[in-house]
Amino acid sequence: MSTTSKDFYRVLGVPEDADKDQIRKAYRKLAKQYHPDANPGDEKAQERFQEIGEAYAVLSDEEKRKKYDQMRRFGAFGMGGRGRRPGGAGPGGSRPGQGDAAGGFTFDDLGGLGGLGDLFSTIFDRGRRDGGDARRPGRAGSGQDVELQVEISFQIAARGGKISLNVPVTEECATCRGSGARPGTNLQTCGECGGVGTVSFGQGGFAVSRPCPACMGKGRVPDVPCEVCRGAGMVRQTRRIEVKVPAGVDTGSRLKVSGQGERGPGGGPPGDLILVFKVKPHHFFRRDGVDVHCTVPINLAQAVLGSRIRVRTVEGKHVILRIPPGTQSGTRFRVRGQGITKGERTGDQYVEVRVEVPKDLSEEERREFERFVESADMRH
Ligand SMILES: [Zn+2]
Ligand SMILES: [Zn+2]
Repeated sequence: MSTTSKDFYRVLGVPEDADKDQIRKAYRKLAKQYHPDANPGDEKAQERFQEIGEAYAVLSDEEKRKKYDQMRRFGAFGMGGRGRRPGGAGPGGSRPGQGDAAGGFTFDDLGGLGGLGDLFSTIFDRGRRDGGDARRPGRAGSGQDVELQVEISFQIAARGGKISLNVPVTEECATCRGSGARPGTNLQTCGECGGVGTVSFGQGGFAVSRPCPACMGKGRVPDVPCEVCRGAGMVRQTRRIEVKVPAGVDTGSRLKVSGQGERGPGGGPPGDLILVFKVKPHHFFRRDGVDVHCTVPINLAQAVLGSRIRVRTVEGKHVILRIPPGTQSGTRFRVRGQGITKGERTGDQYVEVRVEVPKDLSEEERREFERFVESADMRH
Protein backbone atom coordinates (compact mmCIF):
# COMPACT_ATOMS: atom_id res chain seq x y z
CA MET A 1 0.00 0.00 0.00
CA SER A 2 1.31 3.36 -0.90
CA THR A 3 1.89 5.70 1.93
CA THR A 4 2.96 9.26 1.95
CA SER A 5 3.99 9.33 5.54
CA LYS A 6 7.32 10.74 4.44
CA ASP A 7 7.93 14.40 4.75
CA PHE A 8 9.06 15.66 1.36
CA TYR A 9 11.41 18.18 2.91
CA ARG A 10 13.08 15.45 4.88
CA VAL A 11 13.15 13.18 1.86
CA LEU A 12 15.20 15.76 0.03
CA GLY A 13 17.05 16.85 3.16
CA VAL A 14 16.23 20.51 2.70
CA PRO A 15 14.80 23.06 5.14
CA GLU A 16 11.17 24.12 4.86
CA ASP A 17 12.18 27.49 3.48
CA ALA A 18 14.55 26.08 0.90
CA ASP A 19 14.52 27.96 -2.37
CA LYS A 20 14.17 26.43 -5.82
CA ASP A 21 17.88 26.22 -6.31
CA GLN A 22 18.49 24.37 -3.07
CA ILE A 23 15.73 21.92 -3.87
CA ARG A 24 17.01 21.25 -7.34
CA LYS A 25 20.55 20.69 -6.11
CA ALA A 26 19.45 18.35 -3.36
CA TYR A 27 17.31 16.43 -5.80
CA ARG A 28 20.09 16.02 -8.35
CA LYS A 29 22.52 14.79 -5.78
CA LEU A 30 20.12 12.23 -4.31
CA ALA A 31 18.72 11.11 -7.65
CA LYS A 32 22.23 10.35 -8.81
CA GLN A 33 23.01 8.46 -5.65
CA TYR A 34 19.87 6.31 -5.72
CA HIS A 35 19.42 5.93 -9.44
CA PRO A 36 18.50 2.31 -10.34
CA ASP A 37 21.38 2.19 -12.80
CA ALA A 38 23.77 2.84 -9.98
CA ASN A 39 22.08 0.33 -7.68
CA PRO A 40 21.03 -2.63 -9.81
CA GLY A 41 18.69 -5.00 -8.02
CA ASP A 42 18.54 -2.88 -4.89
CA GLU A 43 14.86 -2.50 -4.06
CA LYS A 44 15.44 -0.09 -1.23
CA ALA A 45 17.35 2.23 -3.48
CA GLN A 46 14.63 2.02 -6.06
CA GLU A 47 12.01 2.91 -3.52
CA ARG A 48 14.08 5.78 -2.31
CA PHE A 49 14.59 6.92 -5.87
CA GLN A 50 10.84 6.99 -6.38
CA GLU A 51 10.35 8.89 -3.17
CA ILE A 52 12.90 11.45 -4.19
CA GLY A 53 11.15 11.85 -7.52
CA GLU A 54 7.80 12.35 -5.87
CA ALA A 55 9.17 14.83 -3.41
CA TYR A 56 10.86 16.80 -6.16
CA ALA A 57 7.81 16.75 -8.42
CA VAL A 58 5.87 18.50 -5.70
CA LEU A 59 8.44 20.79 -4.15
CA SER A 60 9.76 22.04 -7.48
CA ASP A 61 6.33 23.16 -8.61
CA GLU A 62 5.22 26.35 -6.96
CA GLU A 63 1.52 25.56 -7.09
CA LYS A 64 1.93 22.01 -5.84
CA ARG A 65 4.35 23.04 -3.15
CA LYS A 66 1.92 25.62 -1.87
CA LYS A 67 -0.81 23.03 -1.58
CA TYR A 68 1.56 20.55 -0.04
CA ASP A 69 2.68 23.06 2.55
CA GLN A 70 -0.92 23.70 3.37
CA MET A 71 -1.56 20.01 3.91
CA ARG A 72 1.60 19.68 5.88
CA ARG A 73 0.63 22.49 8.17
CA PHE A 74 -2.59 20.70 8.94
CA GLY A 75 -0.51 17.80 10.10
CA ALA A 76 -1.80 15.53 7.38
CA PHE A 77 1.43 13.63 7.39
CA GLY A 78 1.57 12.80 11.03
CA MET A 79 4.82 14.63 11.60
CA GLY A 80 6.07 17.24 13.88
CA GLY A 81 6.31 14.96 16.87
CA ARG A 82 2.56 14.69 17.15
CA GLY A 83 2.50 18.29 18.21
CA ARG A 84 -0.78 20.06 17.99
CA ARG A 85 -1.46 23.28 16.33
CA PRO A 86 -3.50 25.21 18.90
CA GLY A 87 -7.10 24.38 18.26
CA GLY A 88 -6.19 22.14 15.37
CA ALA A 89 -8.00 18.93 14.70
CA GLY A 90 -6.08 15.79 15.37
CA PRO A 91 -3.57 14.97 12.70
CA GLY A 92 -1.80 11.75 11.93
CA GLY A 93 -2.30 9.67 14.98
CA SER A 94 -5.94 10.35 15.32
CA ARG A 95 -7.18 9.62 11.88
CA PRO A 96 -6.64 5.91 11.59
CA GLY A 97 -4.64 4.56 8.74
CA GLN A 98 -4.70 1.07 7.33
CA GLY A 99 -3.86 -2.09 9.09
CA ASP A 100 -0.33 -1.94 7.87
CA ALA A 101 0.58 1.68 7.99
CA ALA A 102 1.40 2.38 11.57
CA GLY A 103 0.64 6.03 11.74
CA GLY A 104 1.35 6.28 8.04
CA PHE A 105 -0.88 8.12 5.73
CA THR A 106 -2.41 6.74 2.60
CA PHE A 107 -3.93 8.73 -0.19
CA ASP A 108 -7.29 7.61 0.96
CA ASP A 109 -6.61 8.96 4.39
CA LEU A 110 -5.99 12.24 2.72
CA GLY A 111 -9.37 11.75 1.14
CA GLY A 112 -10.71 11.61 4.64
CA LEU A 113 -9.23 15.02 5.26
CA GLY A 114 -11.84 16.48 3.07
CA GLY A 115 -11.24 15.39 -0.48
CA LEU A 116 -7.76 16.81 -0.62
CA GLY A 117 -6.76 13.27 -1.46
CA ASP A 118 -8.12 13.73 -4.96
CA LEU A 119 -5.97 16.75 -5.34
CA PHE A 120 -3.00 14.76 -4.20
CA SER A 121 -3.62 11.80 -6.42
CA THR A 122 -3.51 14.27 -9.25
CA ILE A 123 -0.34 15.85 -8.02
CA PHE A 124 1.38 12.52 -7.78
CA ASP A 125 -0.24 11.13 -10.89
CA ARG A 126 -0.17 7.81 -9.15
CA GLY A 127 -3.46 6.03 -9.34
CA ARG A 128 -4.32 2.68 -7.91
CA ARG A 129 -1.51 0.43 -8.88
CA ASP A 130 -2.39 -3.03 -10.25
CA GLY A 131 -5.58 -3.05 -8.26
CA GLY A 132 -3.58 -3.61 -5.14
CA ASP A 133 -5.44 -1.06 -3.17
CA ALA A 134 -8.90 -2.18 -2.38
CA ARG A 135 -10.13 0.99 -0.84
CA ARG A 136 -12.66 2.64 -2.99
CA PRO A 137 -12.94 6.39 -3.21
CA GLY A 138 -15.95 6.12 -0.96
CA ARG A 139 -19.29 7.70 -1.55
CA ALA A 140 -20.07 10.54 0.74
CA GLY A 141 -21.20 9.20 4.08
CA SER A 142 -20.17 5.60 3.61
CA GLY A 143 -17.38 4.04 5.63
CA GLN A 144 -14.00 3.12 4.26
CA ASP A 145 -13.12 -0.37 3.15
CA VAL A 146 -10.53 -2.01 5.32
CA GLU A 147 -7.99 -4.36 3.85
CA LEU A 148 -6.50 -6.97 6.13
CA GLN A 149 -3.82 -9.57 5.58
CA VAL A 150 -4.76 -12.85 7.20
CA GLU A 151 -2.56 -15.85 7.72
CA ILE A 152 -4.46 -19.12 7.67
CA SER A 153 -3.48 -22.75 8.02
CA PHE A 154 -3.03 -25.01 5.05
CA GLN A 155 -6.02 -27.05 6.17
CA ILE A 156 -8.40 -24.10 6.40
CA ALA A 157 -7.27 -22.90 2.99
CA ALA A 158 -7.75 -26.35 1.47
CA ARG A 159 -10.95 -27.43 3.14
CA GLY A 160 -12.50 -24.14 4.21
CA GLY A 161 -13.61 -23.35 7.72
CA LYS A 162 -14.23 -20.64 10.26
CA ILE A 163 -11.58 -18.29 11.53
CA SER A 164 -11.68 -15.58 14.17
CA LEU A 165 -10.17 -12.23 13.41
CA ASN A 166 -9.36 -9.02 15.17
CA VAL A 167 -10.22 -6.27 12.75
CA PRO A 168 -8.87 -2.80 13.35
CA VAL A 169 -11.70 -0.33 12.93
CA THR A 170 -12.49 3.26 13.67
CA GLU A 171 -15.26 4.00 16.10
CA GLU A 172 -16.67 7.10 17.64
CA CYS A 173 -14.69 7.96 20.76
CA ALA A 174 -16.71 6.90 23.79
CA THR A 175 -15.03 9.40 26.11
CA CYS A 176 -16.02 12.53 24.22
CA ARG A 177 -18.85 10.96 22.23
CA GLY A 178 -17.25 12.04 19.02
CA SER A 179 -16.98 15.74 19.83
CA GLY A 180 -13.19 15.65 20.23
CA ALA A 181 -13.36 17.85 23.33
CA ARG A 182 -12.25 16.76 26.77
CA PRO A 183 -15.41 16.13 28.81
CA GLY A 184 -16.44 19.29 30.58
CA THR A 185 -14.67 21.61 28.15
CA ASN A 186 -16.12 23.55 25.28
CA LEU A 187 -15.91 23.60 21.55
CA GLN A 188 -15.06 26.79 19.76
CA THR A 189 -15.59 27.98 16.26
CA CYS A 190 -12.92 26.74 13.87
CA GLY A 191 -10.54 29.53 12.99
CA GLU A 192 -9.67 28.00 9.66
CA CYS A 193 -13.12 27.95 8.11
CA GLY A 194 -14.90 30.36 10.43
CA GLY A 195 -17.25 27.60 11.48
CA VAL A 196 -18.61 26.87 8.02
CA GLY A 197 -16.88 23.48 7.89
CA THR A 198 -15.68 24.02 4.35
CA VAL A 199 -12.82 25.88 2.72
CA SER A 200 -12.49 27.03 -0.85
CA PHE A 201 -9.62 26.65 -3.28
CA GLY A 202 -9.26 28.64 -6.44
CA GLN A 203 -8.87 26.28 -9.35
CA GLY A 204 -8.79 27.64 -12.88
CA GLY A 205 -11.26 30.38 -12.16
CA PHE A 206 -13.55 28.16 -10.11
CA ALA A 207 -13.71 28.13 -6.39
CA VAL A 208 -13.82 24.54 -5.27
CA SER A 209 -15.24 23.93 -1.87
CA ARG A 210 -13.86 21.21 0.36
CA PRO A 211 -14.55 20.11 3.89
CA CYS A 212 -12.23 21.99 6.24
CA PRO A 213 -9.17 19.93 7.14
CA ALA A 214 -8.66 21.72 10.42
CA CYS A 215 -12.00 20.76 11.91
CA MET A 216 -12.71 17.81 9.64
CA GLY A 217 -15.75 19.64 8.35
CA LYS A 218 -17.35 19.96 11.77
CA GLY A 219 -16.95 23.73 11.94
CA ARG A 220 -15.92 23.55 15.56
CA VAL A 221 -12.74 22.57 17.31
CA PRO A 222 -12.24 21.61 20.94
CA ASP A 223 -10.80 24.08 23.49
CA VAL A 224 -9.05 21.19 25.15
CA PRO A 225 -8.73 18.07 23.02
CA CYS A 226 -10.07 14.82 24.42
CA GLU A 227 -7.15 12.81 25.76
CA VAL A 228 -8.40 9.50 24.47
CA CYS A 229 -8.89 10.43 20.81
CA ARG A 230 -6.65 13.50 20.94
CA GLY A 231 -9.34 15.67 19.50
CA ALA A 232 -10.34 13.57 16.55
CA GLY A 233 -13.58 12.26 17.99
CA MET A 234 -12.72 8.84 16.60
CA VAL A 235 -10.58 6.06 18.03
CA ARG A 236 -8.95 3.00 16.66
CA GLN A 237 -10.28 -0.22 18.05
CA THR A 238 -10.30 -3.87 17.25
CA ARG A 239 -13.46 -5.76 16.51
CA ARG A 240 -13.48 -9.51 16.83
CA ILE A 241 -15.39 -11.26 14.09
CA GLU A 242 -15.81 -14.76 12.76
CA VAL A 243 -15.39 -15.39 9.06
CA LYS A 244 -16.22 -18.47 7.03
CA VAL A 245 -13.37 -19.15 4.63
CA PRO A 246 -14.44 -21.00 1.48
CA ALA A 247 -12.51 -24.10 0.49
CA GLY A 248 -9.70 -23.67 -2.00
CA VAL A 249 -8.43 -20.19 -1.19
CA ASP A 250 -4.74 -19.65 -1.75
CA THR A 251 -2.11 -17.10 -0.91
CA GLY A 252 -3.22 -13.82 -2.48
CA SER A 253 -6.90 -14.79 -2.60
CA ARG A 254 -9.22 -12.03 -1.53
CA LEU A 255 -12.49 -12.30 0.31
CA LYS A 256 -14.95 -9.50 0.83
CA VAL A 257 -16.83 -9.40 4.10
CA SER A 258 -19.65 -6.93 3.62
CA GLY A 259 -20.25 -4.27 6.19
CA GLN A 260 -17.26 -5.06 8.37
CA GLY A 261 -15.16 -2.11 7.26
CA GLU A 262 -15.05 1.24 8.93
CA ARG A 263 -18.19 2.77 10.26
CA GLY A 264 -19.64 5.48 8.07
CA PRO A 265 -19.38 9.01 9.41
CA GLY A 266 -22.57 10.29 10.94
CA GLY A 267 -24.25 6.90 10.89
CA GLY A 268 -23.59 6.21 7.23
CA PRO A 269 -23.29 2.65 5.96
CA PRO A 270 -20.05 0.89 6.89
CA GLY A 271 -17.41 -0.05 4.36
CA ASP A 272 -16.40 -3.61 3.59
CA LEU A 273 -13.64 -5.71 4.99
CA ILE A 274 -11.34 -7.17 2.37
CA LEU A 275 -9.33 -10.15 3.54
CA VAL A 276 -6.16 -11.06 1.70
CA PHE A 277 -5.02 -14.56 2.57
CA LYS A 278 -1.59 -15.89 3.19
CA VAL A 279 -1.45 -19.65 3.53
CA LYS A 280 1.03 -21.15 5.97
CA PRO A 281 3.12 -24.02 4.69
CA HIS A 282 2.21 -27.54 5.78
CA HIS A 283 4.73 -30.07 7.06
CA PHE A 284 3.39 -32.81 4.80
CA PHE A 285 1.38 -31.32 1.94
CA ARG A 286 2.50 -28.91 -0.71
CA ARG A 287 0.10 -27.26 -3.02
CA ASP A 288 -0.08 -26.47 -6.69
CA GLY A 289 -3.41 -24.84 -7.43
CA VAL A 290 -6.00 -27.51 -6.62
CA ASP A 291 -3.45 -30.34 -6.79
CA VAL A 292 -1.67 -31.50 -3.68
CA HIS A 293 1.80 -33.00 -3.46
CA CYS A 294 3.42 -35.03 -0.75
CA THR A 295 6.43 -37.24 -0.22
CA VAL A 296 6.21 -40.58 1.55
CA PRO A 297 9.17 -42.68 2.69
CA ILE A 298 9.18 -46.41 1.91
CA ASN A 299 11.80 -48.94 2.89
CA LEU A 300 14.00 -50.95 0.62
CA ALA A 301 11.90 -54.09 0.88
CA GLN A 302 8.72 -52.19 -0.02
CA ALA A 303 10.45 -50.76 -3.04
CA VAL A 304 11.97 -54.07 -4.18
CA LEU A 305 9.12 -56.41 -3.43
CA GLY A 306 6.19 -54.07 -3.81
CA SER A 307 3.77 -53.05 -1.09
CA ARG A 308 0.59 -51.26 -0.13
CA ILE A 309 0.95 -48.05 1.85
CA ARG A 310 -1.55 -45.83 3.61
CA VAL A 311 -1.40 -42.20 2.56
CA ARG A 312 -3.15 -39.31 4.25
CA THR A 313 -5.30 -37.02 2.12
CA VAL A 314 -6.06 -33.34 2.52
CA GLU A 315 -9.59 -34.22 3.59
CA GLY A 316 -8.15 -36.07 6.55
CA LYS A 317 -8.92 -39.51 5.17
CA HIS A 318 -6.50 -42.26 4.16
CA VAL A 319 -6.14 -43.97 0.82
CA ILE A 320 -4.30 -47.21 0.10
CA LEU A 321 -1.62 -46.78 -2.53
CA ARG A 322 -0.21 -49.84 -4.30
CA ILE A 323 3.55 -49.73 -4.76
CA PRO A 324 4.55 -52.12 -7.57
CA PRO A 325 7.67 -54.30 -7.19
CA GLY A 326 10.81 -52.57 -8.37
CA THR A 327 9.65 -49.04 -7.64
CA GLN A 328 12.43 -46.47 -7.88
CA SER A 329 12.96 -43.67 -5.41
CA GLY A 330 11.33 -40.49 -6.68
CA THR A 331 8.50 -42.26 -8.51
CA ARG A 332 5.33 -40.20 -8.40
CA PHE A 333 1.86 -41.73 -8.12
CA ARG A 334 -1.36 -39.94 -8.79
CA VAL A 335 -4.35 -40.43 -6.53
CA ARG A 336 -7.29 -39.10 -8.47
CA GLY A 337 -9.74 -36.71 -6.91
CA GLN A 338 -7.97 -36.37 -3.58
CA GLY A 339 -6.77 -32.83 -4.14
CA ILE A 340 -8.47 -29.60 -3.16
CA THR A 341 -12.05 -28.89 -4.16
CA LYS A 342 -12.57 -25.36 -5.32
CA GLY A 343 -15.98 -24.64 -6.74
CA GLU A 344 -16.62 -27.25 -9.42
CA ARG A 345 -13.05 -28.43 -9.63
CA THR A 346 -11.29 -31.04 -7.58
CA GLY A 347 -7.59 -31.63 -7.93
CA ASP A 348 -5.52 -34.78 -7.54
CA GLN A 349 -3.01 -35.85 -4.95
CA TYR A 350 0.48 -36.71 -6.10
CA VAL A 351 2.50 -39.03 -3.90
CA GLU A 352 6.21 -39.21 -4.41
CA VAL A 353 7.95 -42.15 -2.75
CA ARG A 354 11.40 -41.83 -1.35
CA VAL A 355 13.24 -45.08 -0.78
CA GLU A 356 15.08 -45.11 2.49
CA VAL A 357 18.30 -47.01 2.48
CA PRO A 358 18.84 -48.90 5.74
CA LYS A 359 21.58 -47.63 8.02
CA ASP A 360 23.24 -49.18 11.06
CA LEU A 361 22.89 -52.83 10.02
CA SER A 362 23.58 -55.50 12.62
CA GLU A 363 26.35 -57.99 11.97
CA GLU A 364 23.85 -60.59 10.89
CA GLU A 365 21.88 -58.25 8.63
CA ARG A 366 25.10 -57.18 7.08
CA ARG A 367 26.11 -60.76 6.32
CA GLU A 368 22.66 -61.43 4.83
CA PHE A 369 22.94 -58.39 2.67
CA GLU A 370 26.37 -59.38 1.43
CA ARG A 371 25.04 -62.80 0.55
CA PHE A 372 22.26 -61.11 -1.42
CA VAL A 373 24.75 -58.93 -3.21
CA GLU A 374 26.82 -61.97 -4.15
CA SER A 375 23.83 -63.83 -5.54
CA ALA A 376 22.50 -60.81 -7.43
CA ASP A 377 25.93 -60.23 -8.84
CA MET A 378 25.93 -56.56 -7.75
CA ARG A 379 29.61 -56.30 -6.95
CA HIS A 380 30.54 -53.74 -9.57
ZN1 LIG B 1 -12.49 11.57 22.39
ZN1 LIG C 1 -12.80 24.30 10.04
